[in-house]
Amino acid sequence: MKKPFSILIVGGGTAGWMAANLMAHKWGDRKVSITLLESDAIGTIGVGEGSTPYLKGFFKTLGIAESEWMPACNATYKCGIRFPHWSTVPGYESYYHPFFSPLDREIGQVFFNNASLRRSGLDAPANPTDFFHAPFLSSNAYAPLPEQPLPFELDYGYHFDAGLLGRFLRDRAKSAGVRHIVDTISSVERKGETIEAVTAEDTGRHPADFFVDCSGFRALLLGSAPGYQFRPFHETLFNNAAVTVQIPRDDHAPLLSETISEGLSSGWMWRIPLQNRTGCGYVYSDRFLSADGAESELRKTLALPDSAQVNHLRMKVGRVEEHWQGNCLGVGLSQGFIEPLEATALMLVQFTIEHFLEAFSPGRPEVDHASREKVFNQRINRLFDGVLDYVAGHYKLNSRDDTPYWRAAREEIVISDRLRALIDCWDKNSDVDHMLDQAGEELVYSRASWYSLLAGMGRFPKNLRRADTGLQQESEEVRRFCTGNLNRFRSHQAQLDQLSLARQEAEP
Ligand code: FAD
Repeated sequence: MKKPFSILIVGGGTAGWMAANLMAHKWGDRKVSITLLESDAIGTIGVGEGSTPYLKGFFKTLGIAESEWMPACNATYKCGIRFPHWSTVPGYESYYHPFFSPLDREIGQVFFNNASLRRSGLDAPANPTDFFHAPFLSSNAYAPLPEQPLPFELDYGYHFDAGLLGRFLRDRAKSAGVRHIVDTISSVERKGETIEAVTAEDTGRHPADFFVDCSGFRALLLGSAPGYQFRPFHETLFNNAAVTVQIPRDDHAPLLSETISEGLSSGWMWRIPLQNRTGCGYVYSDRFLSADGAESELRKTLALPDSAQVNHLRMKVGRVEEHWQGNCLGVGLSQGFIEPLEATALMLVQFTIEHFLEAFSPGRPEVDHASREKVFNQRINRLFDGVLDYVAGHYKLNSRDDTPYWRAAREEIVISDRLRALIDCWDKNSDVDHMLDQAGEELVYSRASWYSLLAGMGRFPKNLRRADTGLQQESEEVRRFCTGNLNRFRSHQAQLDQLSLARQEAEP
């Protein structure tokens, strides 16, 4: 009998278990054996608790209902990200990046209309992003799923406990037939581009036909490849460290359905609301702040008790040139990382695995170097670079002057020609929509996201058309529409309680 095609996944963080599940789902009924090997001595990074809406597709592919996984992972809904203290423009001190793709096409006009109204001294919400999302989602406690149908669907992502999600995905993968080994790899055996085996301390040599490197920042397998190239992003993204803490949930406050990413002195701090706790982390640049300085600023900002345990992390920000090299695919932190401002890492993980599953067929003659480059690596690189542009935009557009960090983040940052052209186009009130259409997939983020960022910072061209009464009426109609739909949503907590109930009822 022919030996099954063997795949060895190295690493059992979120990336490793996501890969194991998607591969088992696609190839589980074929002649493929999948093993995941992880080290309990090394452990996982233990952060990564916010997603983009893209993660919905992961659970959908695997047929996992929200009522199955969300209560198990203390997960909450995420309708967007709020950014206080990035802009100093009066009225725009806090902006919002909502996940509301269906209104994508109209959004630009509303942003400009509001700015024109305000310029003309007429009434319009200070921050157009607030205006748009507030009635539906807000900083408050609404779940993105309407009780009664809406004329459109709202997009959303999730917050979750990374440790619990890892365990959930591990159990799921094992029940789908994935073998699990706990051991620490001490060496990688190669013949040129091809990895033949890895050797682990207790269990010895593990040969395989294909390897997936999910070993985190160590990049244990990819990093040992001949000609390994890593492209750092440090000239664009200055942050390279984080200090994190978990605080108990305030039971008296409403459960937020958004991440808060607040600008601090030399970076920014996330607050991710889970059902039982809030995860917080200060992402900073060690060029401007020491680890001790970051920790004490975090403690002060959150008024932490002395007993609160914090965790310091280093971040390797950049990407490899070749995510798929020979018989090895890098997934997760091993392939690259863009700092977590837009919580995009798991989206990149999922995208990488999905595209690999499309491009690769176990046992089929090897895909040659040229097509790997064309169909796969370049595509993943474009996605990384598109996300990089969007994240870099937050720093480039900041208007803070109070610390050297924020000035440098605006003035010294190296941005791509594409991002510069987009900002110029916006400043001149040229055809931004046309430019976004032309760039298509390359810019990754949708029109609404770019408008949220640019307008949310309070940056508008000088030559906006003057507001007239028609404009005011239009704006009023949108406001009425938004407010009118508010009662179609149940509270965030009520929605989560319903999921928990459904889970209990489904349990034997
Ligand atoms: P890890 O979690 O580091 O796992 C590595 C695995 O490799 C472990 O199982 C380890 O045991 C194994 N391993 C390593 N060496 C060996 C060895 N020698 N032998 C055997 N096994 C080995 N992402 C988001 O999507 N949203 C966010 O909000 C977000 N926030 C973040 C905040 C910070 C500060 C950082 C640093 C990252 C954040 N991320 C976020 C990224 C996210 O944490 C990772 O993408 C995700 O956790 C996947 O990590 P990983 O599985 O690649 O690596």
